[in-house]
Amino acid sequence: MRLKASDKNEQQEMDIWNGVILASMWRIYIICVVVQLLCLFTYKPTSECSYLTYFEIYFLLPVAAQGILLLLLKLFIRYKSEYLSDYVLDVVSIIISNLFFSVLVLIHSNMSYITVMLMAPIALVSVYKVQGLIWIQLVVSTVLYVASRFPFLPRVTYWMDEMPGLRIITFLALAFVFAAVEEQVRKSSLQLNIQVWKDSLTHLYNHEAFYEELEENMEKFKTDQEPFSILIADIDNFKMVNDTYGHAYGDEVIRAVARVMEKNRGSRDFAARYGGEEFAMILPRKQVGEAILMADKIRREFGAINIESKDGPKSFSISIGVAEYNKPYRTSSSFFEEADQALYKAKAGGKNKVCCYK
Ligand code: GH3
Ligand code: MG
Ligand code: MG
Repeated sequence: MRLKASDKNEQQEMDIWNGVILASMWRIYIICVVVQLLCLFTYKPTSECSYLTYFEIYFLLPVAAQGILLLLLKLFIRYKSEYLSDYVLDVVSIIISNLFFSVLVLIHSNMSYITVMLMAPIALVSVYKVQGLIWIQLVVSTVLYVASRFPFLPRVTYWMDEMPGLRIITFLALAFVFAAVEEQVRKSSLQLNIQVWKDSLTHLYNHEAFYEELEENMEKFKTDQEPFSILIADIDNFKMVNDTYGHAYGDEVIRAVARVMEKNRGSRDFAARYGGEEFAMILPRKQVGEAILMADKIRREFGAINIESKDGPKSFSISIGVAEYNKPYRTSSSFFEEADQALYKAKAGGKNKVCCYK
């Protein structure tokens, strides 16, 4: 599986988990529909429950109800306001997934073993972001199970216990539910393995993530021909900073650059610590003019920051090189070279400057 660096914005982390919940639920839904189809095909009508009644009440009704619940969950995840906490989203997911399985238990209440389906939401809880929900889910599952044992559920008019292998099929369906959730969780924890892609000092993306993302943008250019830009920033006279104020102070200065970049980064932009005191950004859909404006804003904002030192507050400067990707390049480094040359121009031209290639 290809890891996508662009998937690893913290903002997008939540979307990945929501995707896991939805993808698992759709798989589970398909399993439920298949099992109920099997039951439908093997159903033998009785005087109490004709084939049509069985179809309407014991097939169409649960399939429709579960489908609607899933759509509700999908809509809620898609249109939920950014201001809703993770907790609210998790609780709504829990409620919907419990209703989802309760529908089955309620409608097929004569099949005693179908109540094991009430355990399925426990598998889903492992996906939720907020910890501790597993205990709430255990209580909910137990309460629902106990409730399902009381005879106040609507009387089921069909009897199908004699269908051979149905217990095994139901058991296997539950096993598949767990497997579906497990598979999704594993896929996503790979995607969420942010540590591999992040720089520990600044929490920006690292060198590898930068190239991964750059190559993805180059690939995208092949299809949409939409130019994008990159910039490389390098702190001016940084050796002197380290020599004068020490390495720890130097680290503080590096973190200050990262903060300015993060602050100015648009939602599509990608910021990385390229190396020691060098940074790089990818600016999708920005042509060189727009990229220069942004680079200059970053340069000015960083220059205005004062960092307390043994000699009082000190400010520093950065030089930035910008390049636009508007034609295919063979390799990412051959394109990067252009931004590097622009940076060299800025350094040679007296530093604390933004230059572009050509
Ligand atoms: P220029 O203006 O031409 O960029 O000069 P410079 O002194 O900044 O030169 P250069 O970019 O080559 O300096 C790199 C220095 O950055 C050398 C190294 O000691 C320092 N450095 C690299 N990584 C780190 C780091 O993680 N922390 C600190 N404090 N310093 C680092
Ligand atoms: Mg350098
Ligand atoms: Mg430098």
